[in-house]
Amino acid sequence: MTERVPTAVRRSRAELDRALALPARQQPVWPDPDRAASARARLAQARAPVAWPGVRQLSGLLARVAAGELCVLQAGDCAEDPADSDVADVAPKAEMLDVLGDIMRVGADRPVVRVGRLAGQFAKPRSQPYETRDGLTLPVFRGPIVNGPEPTPRARRADPARMLECHTAAGRAHRALDALGRGAGADPLERIWTSHEALLLDYEAPLIRPTGDGGHYLASTHWPWIGERTRQPDGAHVRLLARLDNPVACKVGPRTTAGEVRELCALLDPRRTPGRLTLVARFGASQVARLAPLVREVRLSGHPVLWMCDPMHGNTVQDGDGLKVRRLEDIMNEIRGFLTAVSEGGGVCAGLHIESSPQDIGECAGAGVTPARGPGYRTLCDPRLNLMQAVAVAAHWQQGARERVAAEGTAGPTGSR
Ligand code: PEP
Ligand code: MN
Repeated sequence: MTERVPTAVRRSRAELDRALALPARQQPVWPDPDRAASARARLAQARAPVAWPGVRQLSGLLARVAAGELCVLQAGDCAEDPADSDVADVAPKAEMLDVLGDIMRVGADRPVVRVGRLAGQFAKPRSQPYETRDGLTLPVFRGPIVNGPEPTPRARRADPARMLECHTAAGRAHRALDALGRGAGADPLERIWTSHEALLLDYEAPLIRPTGDGGHYLASTHWPWIGERTRQPDGAHVRLLARLDNPVACKVGPRTTAGEVRELCALLDPRRTPGRLTLVARFGASQVARLAPLVREVRLSGHPVLWMCDPMHGNTVQDGDGLKVRRLEDIMNEIRGFLTAVSEGGGVCAGLHIESSPQDIGECAGAGVTPARGPGYRTLCDPRLNLMQAVAVAAHWQQGARERVAAEGTAGPTGSR
């Protein structure tokens, strides 16, 4: 058992409600608000997918990441399909995390905390609220927890019943992990921890539960993150997660200023708790040099944050057919730039955050794959690495991290603090 780690400042339920009343971007308009209200009421009575002791245990592991004893791998779908939540679906995802985690561990000589974008990664932020397909203007697909991906008015109608279906699917995925011996009851370093973007507040808010010792936690996942589009310091997403006792992560990108990052650290990690806050850098290979000043800013502010590298979301491009793809070469280059920026800025290189699938897919370019529309390209949202590509990326991370250790001759999560 890991020790109790103090995390957020304790808050009352009324303070949580005040945070929820703040402006929130990226929320759907439910055509039938009464049905949305009744779905929220049912979720508030529903079983918590995640229990508090596990969340507390993960906090303890992340504190050890901050101390340089462990590193982190976070991987999975861009958007999960709730239909893929049985043991037969979850087992290959767990195997993928094992294979990639083993690659990261070799050489680093440091155990790997394995985290899935799993059991709740159902909501997607989008750049535009509407899109036009064949002359028809439709609400965008916001993930299977809101509407359907098919380009028809019927599918794109936001349906609150989907929140209940996704809650059931999340429960199934957790039970699958339990059945595989990788859920509750497993050794913390054998466990597959769950994470998702805490985006859809109508789903997340009813799943806030008391910790039993005076605080509150988000029981929809072990490790929620705030996305690039909802990290406004005065917005509902940041203020809510600031008041919860889960460890939290927040994406940062090339438009994040030093002032914003300081503000996010002050809000999300007020007590400067090791492992409490992870900043996930998603800059893109061409912009990753902008990361260095943020790492320095955070170090000067004294917040012991974990830095993770998401080399996917800043590297999405359209190919000649208008298909969304990511190139392995860009992903590799961003990883190199990340390791340099974080090590030189005196930050903790905690690990890698990727979108990958164990299925036989061809959505990212490289390692023998040229993505094309068809059965091999079936992501619900962004292009994912297949297993071969993900192995190459994990190996690239590990090699870069080892070289940093050798260059600096110091100890830390990747050899640098
Ligand atoms: C994601 O992780 O799928 C995502 C949308 O990331 P970001 O918020 O960094 O764009
Ligand atoms: Mn994505």
